[in-house]
Amino acid sequence: MKFELLHQSKKSRARIGRIHTPHGIIDTPNFVAVGTNGTLKALDNRMVSSIGLQLMFCNTYHLLLQPGVDVIREAGGIHKFINRNLPIITDSGGFQVFSLAYGGVADEIKSKGMKKHGGSVLKISDDGVLFRSYRDGRKVLLTPETSVLAQKALGSDIIIPFDELPPYHISQGELRRSLDRTHNWEKRSLEAHLKNPQGQAMYAVIHGGVNPALRAESCSYLTKLPFDGFAVGGSMGKTKEEMVEMLQYTMPRLPEDKPNHLLGIADLESLEQCIPLGIDTFDSSYPTKAARHGTLLTKRGPLKITRGVYSNLFEPIEEGCSCLTCQEYSLAYLHHLFKAKELTAMTLASIHNLHFMVEYMNDYRDMITKDLV
Ligand SMILES: [Zn+2]
Repeated sequence: MKFELLHQSKKSRARIGRIHTPHGIIDTPNFVAVGTNGTLKALDNRMVSSIGLQLMFCNTYHLLLQPGVDVIREAGGIHKFINRNLPIITDSGGFQVFSLAYGGVADEIKSKGMKKHGGSVLKISDDGVLFRSYRDGRKVLLTPETSVLAQKALGSDIIIPFDELPPYHISQGELRRSLDRTHNWEKRSLEAHLKNPQGQAMYAVIHGGVNPALRAESCSYLTKLPFDGFAVGGSMGKTKEEMVEMLQYTMPRLPEDKPNHLLGIADLESLEQCIPLGIDTFDSSYPTKAARHGTLLTKRGPLKITRGVYSNLFEPIEEGCSCLTCQEYSLAYLHHLFKAKELTAMTLASIHNLHFMVEYMNDYRDMITKDLV
């Protein structure tokens, strides 16, 4: 992997870059769509590629349990298995197993409902986490080494080391102990990765909650190790203000010649606040989730398609939008599909929202180039 810094804004820390991976280029800053199970819900991967999404996020935890990494290895890797010839990033599975163990803030963000499927954590130790699969009840041991081996079998372009996701409400002492464990696990992950790099890149995950000293320490420890890039993870506070404040003291501590990623956050308001802080990539299931619930993103703000006012509006969602949905279908038809609970509604709405994100980031890159951001 190679990172090219093309332009540094004169107005903020915002920057334009290009990440070269074995499956192509990612222009930054950019939005990363979340395809948990190797698919963006309601869309096939040819459509996803044609929308222009340069990087897709898949979840190792879910793929480990279904279909299992052996099937994906046998298929020739994740790219072949899901028919995507563009870059893919996978996580370590840590986020999901710790959401299972602790719930809390993380649960609210991504992993709702995992407990109700019957999954449970049996043991957490310095070695790793032993948990019971929610799918078939078998015991699975996730350690830095097994997580990296799973991501090797998947063959994703960017992999994430195994880390601990502490709950939001813990004492500073516990957070301190968790940070030490995470650093140890990330180092072990990197060692396992470097035994067989196979063209993959590994991003460290900076932790430390909303404690400035611990975030600084995490940056200092992890940037000394030969990681290819840096993701910001862990508890980011309860409010956007807390998150932005945390990023303000964290981002300047990351090396400028390596790419960085913000884990799990990419709503429009956060993007607006975080792009000027110099973040390169952002992943979130927000645009697709919103689409499935009938919320369509437009330059005038989000639009709720089930509102009666759209029942006989024979116009596209957004005039001038070049997505397939806007080119071919009207608001009235989409309104009807949502009211009739047709699955096509989710497909067409997801196409538009993802296209919107691609254009949105494109516009941002334009503005940064002109030093307007
Ligand atoms: Zn559109």
